[in-house]
Amino acid sequence: MIIPGSDLSSEMAVPNVCPKCHSTALEIGISNARCIVCRWSGAHDELLGVASSGLDLETKVGKFTEDLLNLLAATTSRRLGEFLVRWGVVNPGDTEAMRYILAQIVGRMAAGVLQFCVGEGAENADEGGGGEPG
Ligand SMILES: [Zn+2]
Repeated sequence: MIIPGSDLSSEMAVPNVCPKCHSTALEIGISNARCIVCRWSGAHDELLGVASSGLDLETKVGKFTEDLLNLLAATTSRRLGEFLVRWGVVNPGDTEAMRYILAQIVGRMAAGVLQFCVGEGAENADEGGGGEPG
């Protein structure tokens, strides 16, 4: 819905965002950009903010998904991990199981957000229910 419209860029000025740590504290150079916070450096088109300008839909969705996964992983992993341990889903110290389960959950969250925002697969969705099959 948002992305295919591609009017997002004209509506909102999206600041450039570091693809690694999502900071907006960037030094934009002539040939590349550098993050002041995490020291990431790379080409301008790797900055996430540029997803709003002049990219084709597939690239936009790709960047959107990547950004979303990073965001969810960065913002939820620790709390979610504590939650899973608290409820006995994962044993404390079982990092392998924790990593697997977190990846599964974050992946599903990202898929849900993507579906909501982009409407991917929405044409196949039956009305009501709201859950996923299986
Ligand atoms: Zn950074």
